[in-house]
Amino acid sequence: MQYDVAIIGGGIVGLATGLQLLRQKPKLKLVLLEKEDQLAKHQTGNNSGVIHSGLYYKPGSLKATNCINGYHELVRFCETEKIPFEITGKVVVATREEQKPLLENLLKRGLENGLEGTRRISLDELKEYEPHCTGVDAIHVPQTGIVDYFQVALAYGRKIMQAGGTILLNHKVLNISQKGNCNYIETKNKTVEAKLVINCAGLYSDKVSQMGEDPQKDVKIIPFRGEYFKLKKEKEYLVKNLIYPVPDPNFPFLGVHFTRMMKGGVEAGPNAVLAFRREGYKKSQINLGELAESLAWPGFQKVAAKYWKTGFGELYRSFSKAAFTKALQELIPEIQESDLVDGGSGVRAQACDRNGGLLDDFAIRESQSLIHVLNAPSPAATSSLSIGGTVAEMALKRFEK
Ligand SMILES: Cc1cc2nc3c(=O)[nH]c(=O)nc-3n(C[C@H](O)[C@H](O)[C@H](O)COP(=O)(O)OP(=O)(O)OC[C@H]3O[C@@H](n4cnc5c(N)ncnc54)[C@H](O)[C@@H]3O)c2cc1C
Repeated sequence: MQYDVAIIGGGIVGLATGLQLLRQKPKLKLVLLEKEDQLAKHQTGNNSGVIHSGLYYKPGSLKATNCINGYHELVRFCETEKIPFEITGKVVVATREEQKPLLENLLKRGLENGLEGTRRISLDELKEYEPHCTGVDAIHVPQTGIVDYFQVALAYGRKIMQAGGTILLNHKVLNISQKGNCNYIETKNKTVEAKLVINCAGLYSDKVSQMGEDPQKDVKIIPFRGEYFKLKKEKEYLVKNLIYPVPDPNFPFLGVHFTRMMKGGVEAGPNAVLAFRREGYKKSQINLGELAESLAWPGFQKVAAKYWKTGFGELYRSFSKAAFTKALQELIPEIQESDLVDGGSGVRAQACDRNGGLLDDFAIRESQSLIHVLNAPSPAATSSLSIGGTVAEMALKRFEK
């Protein structure tokens, strides 16, 4: 059988793309290939579970537009499918005087992105929102929410199957070749044929992008592990909803924060350290080949030179619980090391170009017979239906010809 479209990757982006394709063209013959024995095992199943509002992103960027559109589509989807979510709001808190102008810029950006009701709050109001949090300045973002993205992804998967799509688990894609108008996708089990291939392989999207004609060779995925602690049950009262620091403008991640989770509990983190293996969820997991590839990538060497100071701080906090606790105490001074228990980790797929730029925006590329989602880090879970809609439109244009 020849499929119209084969999607590689059963994370939230691949699944949202499948769902949007079938919504727009119900008769499409669609298959989704996932290497694991379950959906959403990687980034999608190991994230902070925050429905981002669009506060941080450059107005007009793909992150800003897809996050804002995706936010509304996600909320509608959860309402219709009865997936629990909560619009909790969050506070972003400056803890040092020098962060005040950065917070002001963040507020301006949020307002430019249309976040009505996002505003500077007094320190008394901060105490009302988060009684145990201290700072010198704060903003409140009412739109932010929480959801379990694993549940969202499984629901996208169910909808794909209800709409006649096929999902094949345990089908790791090993190679792709083309003959005429057909892609031959060699998997661990069998070869699948499809007119169009969409690469949504997350941590391996660069590897898949090098299969077949027109390999994309200018981008490498650098894996950054994010480690979490959890507040002990009896200390959960310290956090009502979500508390974020002002992000370091010299580092592409948001800084350790507190998040009340939809599935229960409060998480603290994630930090951001280079993972020595793409799916390396523990410090001890090392893949020498993958590590060597990261270190040898010219772009990574420039990134390391640029962010070495912050990077070392993150690494130190990864090995020292006391240092991690100290970072958290900036926001909640009464937190103690003994209040924190191990909370697992996730690994971010961050694309890096040859010249040393960590790709700031989402990146989607087209070649003759493939579409590649090459960079879909946070807030791609929030944005999934919007990214999926964009990719679906690109794909369906090819079937109009
Ligand atoms: C620590 C952390 C915190 C985050 N917090 C948030 C947040 O609060 N809010 C938010 O919006 N976003 C957040 N994100 C980002 C979000 O989780 C990701 O952007 C999103 O899950 C990306 O989805 P994906 O489908 O591209 O990737 P993935 O979920 O990683 O899925 C890719 C899939 O491709 C499969 N695959 C790979 N190679 C192959 C192959 N050769 N053959 C077949 N299958 C293959 C993998 O097994 C995997 O299932 C966070 C991410 C992390 C890591």
